[in-house]
Amino acid sequence: MEKTISIILSVILVLSLCIPAALAADKDCGCGYVPVIYVTGFAQTPLAENVGTPGERMVFMPESGAVVRAVVKLIVPVIALIVTADFDSFAKSVADDMDELFADVICDRNGDPVNPAVDVTQRVPPSADHTPGMSNVFRYDWREDVFDIARELNDYIEELKRLTGHDRVALRAESMGGAVTMTYLSVYGSGSVDSIVMQSSAFNGITLVGSIFTGDLDVKPASVINYILNFVEGSDNKSVASRLLIKAFGGILIAAVANSLDYTIDRCRDSLYDYSLKSFMGCIPGLWTFVPQEDYEAAKAFMLDEDENARLIAKIDRYHYGVMDRTGELLDSAMEDGVRLAIISNYGKAAVPAITDDGYQSDFLIDTRRTSLGATCAPFGKTLGADYVQAVDDGHNHLSPDGIIDASTCMYPENTWFIKDMMHTWYTRGYLSFAYDFIYSDTAMTVFDDPRYPQFMLNDHATGELVPVTAQTGVSAIHIHR
Ligand SMILES: [Zn+2]
Ligand SMILES: [Zn+2]
Repeated sequence: MEKTISIILSVILVLSLCIPAALAADKDCGCGYVPVIYVTGFAQTPLAENVGTPGERMVFMPESGAVVRAVVKLIVPVIALIVTADFDSFAKSVADDMDELFADVICDRNGDPVNPAVDVTQRVPPSADHTPGMSNVFRYDWREDVFDIARELNDYIEELKRLTGHDRVALRAESMGGAVTMTYLSVYGSGSVDSIVMQSSAFNGITLVGSIFTGDLDVKPASVINYILNFVEGSDNKSVASRLLIKAFGGILIAAVANSLDYTIDRCRDSLYDYSLKSFMGCIPGLWTFVPQEDYEAAKAFMLDEDENARLIAKIDRYHYGVMDRTGELLDSAMEDGVRLAIISNYGKAAVPAITDDGYQSDFLIDTRRTSLGATCAPFGKTLGADYVQAVDDGHNHLSPDGIIDASTCMYPENTWFIKDMMHTWYTRGYLSFAYDFIYSDTAMTVFDDPRYPQFMLNDHATGELVPVTAQTGVSAIHIHR
């Protein structure tokens, strides 16, 4: 009798042990579509105080009333500047005005937010729904230390795995999301990752930020006009009339504004840095992920104080020397683990006209050279030249048909796609189709595998689709020679 009972008990025990496994097997829906997480970028989600309560108040971007008040407040200082030509006082007024406008956004000297009641809005936990073409959106406080954000991403990934029963997820990492993803890989490895699509990723820094963080702030009127023209009409040559109109108009108005801005900045630069930029921008850990490695030590020396900012420096050192410096190593090891990688880099757009050397190819914010991990690019508005020979002969052609990009110098030439005339993060249907087709493909797709997605594609503004770049695709249009 006792034996019978013990056998029955054993059977029950064994069965009960099997139940969770059976449930888990049921949850693995076998749909064949990996759940996708869209890792957002810097400042992409608004910041608010007391999020989700009746007292919720937007702090970034500030509400329009606050912006108007800040602008109005500058009227007197501008008049005073014209009368007295006292640029230092003017810089002080601008700095005070900015400090007030962004009082709830700033971080202290340790890089911690000064207002603990501020968080990103729209923070939504992952959902079990992983319908093809749908992404769970991972939002985070983009001011923070990227290691804190990576920890939140890890929690998010684990929760999504639990909800869907899939043991791996795909990451669409955009802009700063690329730095977050690399940091995640450095701490948590790639065991939970099926594929990564780097979308205009900031994993190699941004020249604009490196320059500003080393004291270079420069506005050149011709560059400002270039930038605006490039913004309003892309790089097709269809609207000649509008271009001539804007050029003529820009020649007068934009140049006048840019000239006076340049004149003012030239005289206020040091004061602006001392009163505002160093303490405001310099103390936001998230911004430091954008400083290119080659500018990093100089930027620290320029922006921060070794003792006063010691805790902040420890955080940003950890990213620069533990992640950014090891980009190739981290991605190599992920790919050895079976992670499929697509790096999507945009080109054909002018660079932000705020620094001295602003003639590079970009997506309107980040240099093409950086989002592609090392492509050789013609300056904006130019080609590499008829005599140009591909820098690395690996047996493939990696030169763009329009003569602007040589992808052979990329860290991963077979895994790096280029989209011409695509603004930073302004995705189209065609762009997203490409990203999802890559994610759901059964193979580790390279630039040679799918005729729909060659290495060089153009964002067709008329249809929102991607089409192959050809020799006839214009050299990115407007370029005013200084
Ligand atoms: Zn599924
Ligand atoms: Zn190759």
